[in-house]
Amino acid sequence: MIIAKDSVVLLDYTLTGPDGKTIDSSAGRDPLPYLHGAGNIIAGLENALTGKSAGDELTVSVPPAQGYGLRDEKLMQVVSASAFQGVPDIQTGMQFQARGPQGQTAVVTVTNVTGDQVTVDANHPLAGVDLTFAVKIVEVRAATREELEHGHVHGVGGHQH
Ligand code: ZN
Repeated sequence: MIIAKDSVVLLDYTLTGPDGKTIDSSAGRDPLPYLHGAGNIIAGLENALTGKSAGDELTVSVPPAQGYGLRDEKLMQVVSASAFQGVPDIQTGMQFQARGPQGQTAVVTVTNVTGDQVTVDANHPLAGVDLTFAVKIVEVRAATREELEHGHVHGVGGHQH
């Protein structure tokens, strides 16, 4: 069957950045399952997979607007080191869970430390990055009614509950 809305798709994939380095890959793991048309994966990849079928291999270039979004410099913030209670030695590259004004959680990355001043970046680490997915479609099946109600895939590699 071909991939359309409400298909469950299992993919092997390797994600590389503009420098050709691998960012993430399913190699050595079970294929990634997702529910097509439910926004489980980034739009640029999901759109490219519509109409494909099991066994197809493709390479998909995804610009930031179709991926993890553009960088927003307003999401850079300078805070006092004392805001990091219990972390004695803040260093560039550390990541923390932060809670936003609406209670949503975001991962922030420390991008600079100068004395007591810590610069944190709440952009997604892949915001503003051109991505390339090398994808092999392993399986395509119809979603169960329960999967459609939940908006995600159940079973191996999917949600367990
Ligand atoms: Zn579920």
